[in-house]
Amino acid sequence: MIRAHVSWDALAVRHVEAVAQADDEILHESQQSGKSKKICITDPDATMATSGRNRRLEPAYKQHTAVDDVAGVVVDVEVTTGQENEGMVVAERLDAVTAATGRPITIATMDAGYAYAKVFRALEDRSIEGILPAKAEQMPGKVIPTRRFKFDSHHNIARCPRGKILRPKGKLQRSAFQHFYADVKDCRNCPLRARCVSPSRHARVVVFNVNHPSLLRARRKRRAWGKRENRLYQRHRWRVEGVHGEAKTWHGLARAVRRGLDNMRIQVFLTAAAINLKRLAVAFFTLILYRLIAPVPVIDANLPQLA
Ligand code: SF4
Repeated sequence: MIRAHVSWDALAVRHVEAVAQADDEILHESQQSGKSKKICITDPDATMATSGRNRRLEPAYKQHTAVDDVAGVVVDVEVTTGQENEGMVVAERLDAVTAATGRPITIATMDAGYAYAKVFRALEDRSIEGILPAKAEQMPGKVIPTRRFKFDSHHNIARCPRGKILRPKGKLQRSAFQHFYADVKDCRNCPLRARCVSPSRHARVVVFNVNHPSLLRARRKRRAWGKRENRLYQRHRWRVEGVHGEAKTWHGLARAVRRGLDNMRIQVFLTAAAINLKRLAVAFFTLILYRLIAPVPVIDANLPQLA
């Protein structure tokens, strides 16, 4: 999270309808929710976001960083407005890393903020091993949870714990979620009805993401994590979080210096370039040191070789 270069006085609370104007999508959401939202008058590209449950919302941008695991080199960086969901950028950034480095990615580690079905699908599509903790499904009290329903992606149906079929209805939602409905006749005399169907409904409805099969596979893999996966994930935490900390502490990326997404991009690219130049300087210094003290030439694939 990067704090936008605006003051608290620049925030205005307006009804979403008032700011949505011609944007049909936002207008539709606003009509559904009736909510108001805060907008930033001096930097409309910055949106309200928070980096933790206990922290207040602030006008912000979000930086998405890909770091090479061996030397900590920043191989890709992208900046979005603060409220952009992490899962929305991953597929594009994976491709960007491959294009920039000219090498396919074999393993990608990410924090739990990226653990969405869409991300697991993107990793599977690219044959990348993902090391990120898939969230376990929440247990909503005594109600039979969605995970007890088996999703059959081949026939696009779901089966309930009694083996009855639930079929999809309606168009696929913008968010890629699909509702599956049980037959009223099946649920009417079912012994599990009290635990399965809400009192206000006649039959059970479950919601699956179109990428749900990928999420299920990721959850199974998560349960089977061993030493190797835990080590890689631990490594991710200091490796990537370390780069974020370095950018904020030493290069002023905790706060934007200008306004607007384009200016923000310039700032994050320059910061990443500064970090990479430091890595390069360390690599050359190390190489020269090796040459001074080592009696024979050192060949290290991770170090740049002097001509
Ligand atoms: S209530 Fe309906 S959906 Fe739930 S287990 Fe019974 S038949 Fe299946």
